[in-house]
Amino acid sequence: MASGFRARPPSLSAGQNLSDYYKVEGLLRVAEGRMFYLVNDNRRDRPSRRCWECGDENNLIDAPTCSACSASLAVRRFLVAVHISANPEAYFHFFQRQITHRCFLSPCDAFLFPEDRPVLLCSVVPFHGERFLLDEAAPMNITAVLTLAQRGIALIAHLATQGIKLSTINRANFLLRGDDDFILYDPAVIEAQEGPLPMEECAKVVRDLGALLRKYTSVEERGWLDFFQGAEDGMYLTPGEFGQALQAEYNRHPRGKSTLHAGMSDVGLIRQINEDNWGWGRLAPGVDIFAVADGMGGHEAGEIASKLAVDTLVSEAARRMNVSPRPSIDAIENVLDETFQGANNRIKSTAEERGNDMGTTLVCCIVVDDAVALCANVGDSRGYLIRGGQLHQITRDHSLVQRMVEQNRLTPAEARNHPHSNILLRTVGTERGVEIDIFRVELEPGDRLLLCSDGLWGEVEDAEIESILNGSDSNRVVCRELIRAAHHGGGKDNISVVIISVPSSPEEAAS
Ligand code: CA
Repeated sequence: MASGFRARPPSLSAGQNLSDYYKVEGLLRVAEGRMFYLVNDNRRDRPSRRCWECGDENNLIDAPTCSACSASLAVRRFLVAVHISANPEAYFHFFQRQITHRCFLSPCDAFLFPEDRPVLLCSVVPFHGERFLLDEAAPMNITAVLTLAQRGIALIAHLATQGIKLSTINRANFLLRGDDDFILYDPAVIEAQEGPLPMEECAKVVRDLGALLRKYTSVEERGWLDFFQGAEDGMYLTPGEFGQALQAEYNRHPRGKSTLHAGMSDVGLIRQINEDNWGWGRLAPGVDIFAVADGMGGHEAGEIASKLAVDTLVSEAARRMNVSPRPSIDAIENVLDETFQGANNRIKSTAEERGNDMGTTLVCCIVVDDAVALCANVGDSRGYLIRGGQLHQITRDHSLVQRMVEQNRLTPAEARNHPHSNILLRTVGTERGVEIDIFRVELEPGDRLLLCSDGLWGEVEDAEIESILNGSDSNRVVCRELIRAAHHGGGKDNISVVIISVPSSPEEAAS
């Protein structure tokens, strides 16, 4: 692993004591390279209690209030982020700085556990039931995205003035209170210097924030998608430049509206990194593209392949569709075929340059006027149609077990648990010129489309996927529930889902 933040630390168990003060209640959430635990300070095995207000350590174990400052000694809960840290010294310097900001949860404690190898860095904050941004499906309404943008920019700048250099900023760094009160938490500190950091040194983190914001922006907010794409591509070198451009863009934009699509990706419970990717874009008025890719290749190659596939597909299709008059359905199908092939060849070239064998699955869907879906795939990420409450698989897996099912050598149930269920016969980026399957679906009002990686369908039976979809009209809620179900199924792989709804009435389409 290239960075200490990428490796998954070993687990702590419920009831286990942690340092002098804490007892583990349980694992709250797993993220790339990190685990978040809920702990309390109810340590009956200790001779005395610590007061968190004044730091006095001499209180009797059953004392209701602190003898030094009279603060309550009721049991408190804390959130502990555990990661394998490449640079714990920098984190301790940052901790000692006790940086305050109204949108920042400064650690109240930080320590190494155990004190030998591998070094696990534990960072502790008081916990009051905040939610993880990790559990929020995209898109958020644009007001929330812009609040996150302003917070992120302000916090990056604030930490830089305190001499704190971050390696990145991502979804795992934010907690949520209410709908749009974003709190920065457990930043990925790589350096804590005495004086302020030159703002240009934040350029990479500014790009990462742009990528995070783009992911949470609805396909209907094309102006904002393009704006955040620009930030992700490195248009702004400092948080100040990004902030000024954000304000100018805001002044140009009308208010956003509600959306009918949602997307979410999750590392799962076992894997250390997320090699899946997903994305969307508006190609023309009434024409949107959605995609899910599941990368493979190891050593960071898989995540590069899946990101290249999604980004190339979306940006190239948008470029090709930027003509007047708008292309016919048959011409859009050609655009899809050629841009999919273009993404394939670009990954193949990149793999050759890097001397690796990276590849990816890719399933995507272009929805035209809520009337037709053009669904294309290579590999075993799937497209489903949900019509009248029933789930139908649109795509066909290009896998060994699928071929054996078609040859009547396996039943679909046997295929699910087959030891070779992960062998793919066709992938994106492995050969120049890949054969692409394209399916055309005439859509009806109220239909939904689901794109997903095998981390979903491999863990959750179709009947359960169907019942979760039927359980809520909110696609953001369904995304969260599907990922939760995949965790319950074992969470052995990365999980990605994108859901698109066809409005059931013209009023809904216009709302
Ligand atoms: Ca997978």
